[in-house]
Amino acid sequence: LKAEILSIGTEILVGSILNTNSRFLSAKLAENAIDVYRHTSVGDNPERLKTAFKEALERADLVISSGGLGPTEDDVTVRALASFLGRKLVLHRPTYEAIAKKLKVRGRRMNRLITRQCFVPQGSRVLQNDRGTAPAILTRTGTQGQRKWILLLPGPPRELEPLFTQKALPLLLHCLKIKRQAFVIRSVRIAGLVEVEVAPKVKALLKMKPPLTVGIYAKPGEVELKIMSKASGKAGALRGAARLEALIRKKFGSAVYGVDGETLQSAVGKLLKKRGRTIAAAESCTGGRLSSLLTEVPGSSDYFLGGVIAYHNRVKRDLLSVRQDILEKRGAVSEETAKAMAKSVRVKFKADFGVAITGIAGPSGGTQRKPVGLVYTAVAGPKRTRVFHKIHFGARRDIQESAARNALNLLRLELLK
Ligand code: ATP
Repeated sequence: LKAEILSIGTEILVGSILNTNSRFLSAKLAENAIDVYRHTSVGDNPERLKTAFKEALERADLVISSGGLGPTEDDVTVRALASFLGRKLVLHRPTYEAIAKKLKVRGRRMNRLITRQCFVPQGSRVLQNDRGTAPAILTRTGTQGQRKWILLLPGPPRELEPLFTQKALPLLLHCLKIKRQAFVIRSVRIAGLVEVEVAPKVKALLKMKPPLTVGIYAKPGEVELKIMSKASGKAGALRGAARLEALIRKKFGSAVYGVDGETLQSAVGKLLKKRGRTIAAAESCTGGRLSSLLTEVPGSSDYFLGGVIAYHNRVKRDLLSVRQDILEKRGAVSEETAKAMAKSVRVKFKADFGVAITGIAGPSGGTQRKPVGLVYTAVAGPKRTRVFHKIHFGARRDIQESAARNALNLLRLELLK
């Protein structure tokens, strides 16, 4: 079964609203194992709308539209569809009565414009809209051998979403004789590697076909492998997802930091909590971003003690006891400075771990030996202090963000040792 989504409204085309309906509908259809092949947006223009219905129905078995069901003259969806189907518009009595009743409660009377919303293409099924006036309309076309379905939904998300979930979707599943399938999506999150390093290792997985597939997505400082598993029952879908997750974990080992809603900062938090350890941060070029990420996690006060933003050399020297000769001979961006900062913050805050970041966020300040993006990260623990360096790419903010995330990952790996 091929489905397409047609978003109707000039507002979408001119950028006044974000088309959240197509996203919502796609997600719901995916959950129900209905494949969406295309999204189209078209303005409130009867001719272009007719063409859009025609083209979509040539390709798809099910077309779901949103918008243009309102009472005003510029709401033309129903008329365009009726004209495309070559059907008459007929008054749908129950809709008329339901709307009249709603209006009466609010002390208003039916008028000519609202009456327009009670007309539907002959032979349609109509679903009342509990949050608004325009009903949803489901209609069938096509030949005996190849049935096609069209569902019209109102545009406002607060009307469309409940109407679709509670009424239209169950009806679609029934009319289209779609067996309810279980669908599980699981995101396996990998840190410390980039997409081009991950992809070759999962080549075979990326080629898999439904009901079990894997997609790869690059995110700032991490790579997400998204498993999609369909089966007739929940248990089967879960089994499929678990099998692939285990395979991925085996390939990437500790680079996998979590699944689904887990973040690097929550994964680090869990580890620190589990081990009963605390940490403190000393940040230069990230200006507090590492501390900010750590404190995003509720309950982080259990393990995050605090930090120092040691931006100026004087602060590195006076607050973190980095020796003047290190700052002069090795520089503020150096292995030695990072190490001294991490060790010092660990001692000063009486933490189990001290993490320090010093680097060149740019855009200026780079040299041949120390280019923009070069960042030293030190992790000082009870047993040892390790220093890492890496060149991060992008604009100043990207460098700061990936440096902070990289530090979280280095700390995580150190905690796993
Ligand atoms: P109404 O009965 O309110 O006129 P309608 O079915 O005619 O509803 P539209 O006129 O197309 O729908 O849109 C009404 C409002 O719904 C828009 O102003 C917008 O706020 C919202 N809306 C419409 N389409 C979308 C969409 N694709 N994504 C998000 N919001 C939308």
